[in-house]
Amino acid sequence: MSMETVEVDYLVIGAGAAGMAFADSLLTETQATMAIADRHHRPGGHWNDAYPFVRLHQPSYFYGVNSRPLGSGAIDAQGPNKGMSELASGAEILAYFDGVMRQRLLPSGRVHYFPMTDVEDDATIVSRLSGERRRVKARKVVDAAYLSPSVPATTTRSFGVAPGVTCVPVGELPRAVRPGASYVVIGAGKTGIADVTGANADKFYGVENGYGLWVLYDTDGSILEDYFGVSRYAVLGIAFPEIADANGKITEATSTLSDLRLRAEKFFGDNRTYVGFNQATPGTRYFTYACDDGAGGAVAQNAFRCTATGVASEGMSGFAYTINQSNARTSTFTSRPGWNDSLTCWVSKKGESC
Ligand SMILES: Cc1cc2nc3c(=O)[nH]c(=O)nc-3n(C[C@H](O)[C@H](O)[C@H](O)COP(=O)(O)OP(=O)(O)OC[C@H]3O[C@@H](n4cnc5c(N)ncnc54)[C@H](O)[C@@H]3O)c2cc1C
Repeated sequence: MSMETVEVDYLVIGAGAAGMAFADSLLTETQATMAIADRHHRPGGHWNDAYPFVRLHQPSYFYGVNSRPLGSGAIDAQGPNKGMSELASGAEILAYFDGVMRQRLLPSGRVHYFPMTDVEDDATIVSRLSGERRRVKARKVVDAAYLSPSVPATTTRSFGVAPGVTCVPVGELPRAVRPGASYVVIGAGKTGIADVTGANADKFYGVENGYGLWVLYDTDGSILEDYFGVSRYAVLGIAFPEIADANGKITEATSTLSDLRLRAEKFFGDNRTYVGFNQATPGTRYFTYACDDGAGGAVAQNAFRCTATGVASEGMSGFAYTINQSNARTSTFTSRPGWNDSLTCWVSKKGESC
């Protein structure tokens, strides 16, 4: 039987975030044709395998393809992310990439999409359903699966499990929960640490766990790489570490300032100026927030600095944190003995310095 030949300018391996973003830009900026092949039955890559309660760890508008925003740009009005830009759920991300494929890439007539298809080598793709083999004649092959993460749902565990112990990948957790049961979380990637908050962080970070191991935040990205299988350079944004203060007051300041900076950078990306970016911080309580140009004037075209100033009636008098367009951070503590000022970082613990 003769093999069908697909002739295109580009063969894109993988319809995950990388492959979709590449295809979207190629469509906008060139007249090229392309074939996109992926083992999954729909676009979105590893989000098809992610645990059901997964959410982005960064504002939705910083994720996805260039031509179409993810999410509505809303600020969450409730929950742990209250006052911050929305974080898309796994289901939203999948629906988004599905929309990009069906409403943008395919109608262009320049994209051939092969779901449920393995790329065997640079010139052969094989349907996982029918076994049909197709030859691809492409001028360029783009491996958009190069940085693909491995997730527990699709890998074999590398340790044994004692009889009587139920061990499930994190994606099975909603089905495995039993009232009153206690759980051991294996792995301290961002999935494992998702339940660590400002209120309980001191019970985890830097604490000896009883077996001679200390739990540390992933400051150098090694947990991401070793456990999560994601290159530290592949992650565009990451959960803000909610650490140190007993009741989340400082976390409010540092996460709000991070969010303000993200909004400012997004605005700058769209308008080539910081003047006019959204500085609203609804739902905040322990700090007040104001942005200037770094020298007391109004926010400028190329410069801003946002300051969080502690609210005295909330017990935060003397606390001040800043961030600017270079992501430089400072901490100032007025009449707060034991708290060390810093010109280079946000200090969130008494006695801490950087
Ligand atoms: C749970 C989780 C949460 C995350 N949260 C964030 C976040 O908040 N922000 C952030 O920036 N990053 C996050 N990441 C990192 C994530 O890796 C990237 O955001 C991005 O989704 C990776 O996209 P990708 O296209 O590189 O890989 P993938 O999504 O893995 O896509 C690669 C695709 O290639 C296909 N493929 C591979 N080889 C072949 C082959 N030979 N033939 C056919 N198809 C093939 C695979 O089936 C897959 O669909 C998260 C990762 C995980 C696991």
